[in-house]
Amino acid sequence: NPISLLSSLSLLSLSLSLSLSSIAILAPTSVSKDPLSLRTSSNSSSSDLQRISLNPPRIFGSKLKSGKIEQTQLRLLTASNNCSDLTAKASRKPLGLTEELKNNKLESVVETDDGSCLFEDMKRRFLSFKKHKYMENLEHYQNLAKGQAPKFMVISCADSRVCPSTILGFQPGEAFIVRNIANLVPSFERGPSETNAALEFSVNALEVENILVVGHSCCGGIRALMSMDDEVEKSSFIQNWVVVGRDARLWTKAAASKLSFDQQCKHCEKESINRSLLNLLTYPWIEEKVKNGILSVHGGYYDFVDCTFEKWTLDYKEDNLKEKHGRISVKNHLFWS
Ligand SMILES: [Zn+2]
Repeated sequence: NPISLLSSLSLLSLSLSLSLSSIAILAPTSVSKDPLSLRTSSNSSSSDLQRISLNPPRIFGSKLKSGKIEQTQLRLLTASNNCSDLTAKASRKPLGLTEELKNNKLESVVETDDGSCLFEDMKRRFLSFKKHKYMENLEHYQNLAKGQAPKFMVISCADSRVCPSTILGFQPGEAFIVRNIANLVPSFERGPSETNAALEFSVNALEVENILVVGHSCCGGIRALMSMDDEVEKSSFIQNWVVVGRDARLWTKAAASKLSFDQQCKHCEKESINRSLLNLLTYPWIEEKVKNGILSVHGGYYDFVDCTFEKWTLDYKEDNLKEKHGRISVKNHLFWS
């Protein structure tokens, strides 16, 4: 049954996201050393990172302060900070959508001023989405309930600062997204993973026309890859994952050995995207479609320090597949600033 398959995969996608979050949470020793946080700047000579710590920029309405992100624009004035109000309202029997639309009886916003009730904020945002997006485009959303036909499959980092829907404006139904640490694509030979399960479904069942691998600046996962010993520490889930990017690390060390460690990391952030594009072609059902021109694979790089986005497309040539010099042919290289 295709509908139940789609539902199962939606759940799968959700659980993948959750399981990846869990990886970060469940590895306190590595996290405290900072593979995924801006606090890398404390022992770093990177000018980009120093700029963040010395002069906190505003990133999409949030202010960075002492390594923490302080919500500044998403909270409204205080009316109530009582979570029990929410519980009572939430237990009410939900109205049908049509009835809600007709009576315009969407629940009013509950406000908070101390941030202690995160779910009050979440509820307010959800109801705002429902009122301003869902209900105003009811037909579109109800069609989406029947199925999806996204044009894009996106692989991006799990980092909380680089949500592709936020920075690239993907609306529900437009992009099938899998996020993992350091936006890596393992090769076909490495066997099953959440990422290639998502690739298989999006390419073979949804028949997406584009795969976009999005990397980003100050990537803690790439820093972890560049920092690790040649031997993977068996107890580290993070190392066992980021070692997927071993080739990118090798090419970076070969090409950028004279640069500072921070610059090497930045080099590797982009190098790993190109390795991932080549790894995509190790899947026979991807290579076949790329070869026939019905699927394109693209790289993207989001620099959130300067807020720029670089995009390029793999220029498929069979000769390049066995590339020997660490370079791949690309086309349509664009830089948005
Ligand atoms: Zn990252």
